[in-house]
Amino acid sequence: MLIRNARGWTAAGETVLSVRLDRGAVTACGELAPLPGEQVLDLAGDWLLPGFVDVHIHGSGGFDAMRGEADVRGMSRVLRRLGVAAFCPTTMSASPEETRRALAGIEAVRRRPEPGGARVLGAHMEAPFLSPEKAGAQDSAWFCDPDRDAFEGLRGETLVKLITLAPERPGSEAFIRWAAAQGIHVSLGHSAADAETVHRAADWGADHATHLFNAASPLLHRAPGLPGAALTDGRVFCELICDGVHLHRDIVRLAVKAKAPERALAITDAMEAAGLPDGTYALGGAPVEVRAGKAQRPDGTLAGSVLTMPRALHWLIHEAGVDPRTACAMCTSVPAASVGEPCCGRLFPGSPLPLTRWTSGWEMAGVLDEDALPL
Ligand SMILES: [Zn+2]
Repeated sequence: MLIRNARGWTAAGETVLSVRLDRGAVTACGELAPLPGEQVLDLAGDWLLPGFVDVHIHGSGGFDAMRGEADVRGMSRVLRRLGVAAFCPTTMSASPEETRRALAGIEAVRRRPEPGGARVLGAHMEAPFLSPEKAGAQDSAWFCDPDRDAFEGLRGETLVKLITLAPERPGSEAFIRWAAAQGIHVSLGHSAADAETVHRAADWGADHATHLFNAASPLLHRAPGLPGAALTDGRVFCELICDGVHLHRDIVRLAVKAKAPERALAITDAMEAAGLPDGTYALGGAPVEVRAGKAQRPDGTLAGSVLTMPRALHWLIHEAGVDPRTACAMCTSVPAASVGEPCCGRLFPGSPLPLTRWTSGWEMAGVLDEDALPL
């Protein structure tokens, strides 16, 4: 299929382009003429964006990555219909047996992708090397010090793209140096670390911060904590939950000014209720009440979100006032780059489908897949 007359960006600025789709990927991009018999979709000047990339997501549409392969497949299908091209299914703190099963399920879908599903890039392990002081909705019973043998015992054969840890825990230096040398991106989070510890962790090889400001030491003017260090250290990508619940919009603006366009990224941190009605759900085996866009434990702790990537982009542009080009990068190319996948989140030959279509007023107008009927 050929998509024509689409608005997009190149390094030189705004442009009108054509994109050819075939066999689940973009195959050409630029000024293209239709091939004989080729289906053509004219976007009439609407924006065409690469597929979303979400590197921190626990569940969606009633599926939860901790439940194993069948649920990761379900997430993969649900996410592609939302315009997500690639994601990192994310684990919660759980017993070693449950963690191993979840990671094996994620790896199974990475190796044998779900037909018609979003691509699994690899796992994001959000536990167990976290601080009990900043557990958030994670079960601190399973937390322990960073340790290569413990990690290897949990992940087995699974490709882990990201691991969240609290760098103040003993053993962090050796683990971070080893993980970074393996190409595993270390993300700092669920941590009470001071700013100096965060900069040292970046010296050791950490290059990512998990849901910045949430479940972390606070930013104070004489003690900038994890957020202050992550925002000012040029080596660190910063995850932001862009749902208007986890972060005030001024905090998102502050983070964008500090880190964009290359180091600020939107995540959903979504749990299974994303895309479903209000009600009682579960995250990491414990109950979560979902009411009016908030997912909370009975004690009021926020427990993941019900955000989707299209809503994150819409919120960034319309509520946080982030310029559209930066906001789009935060939802596509930057998260992809943060886990070493430069081909995702861009309109390049080889980029995975789907793509999304947005009106000139930045409302989503559809998800474009190779078999999509013209809208
Ligand atoms: Zn999470």
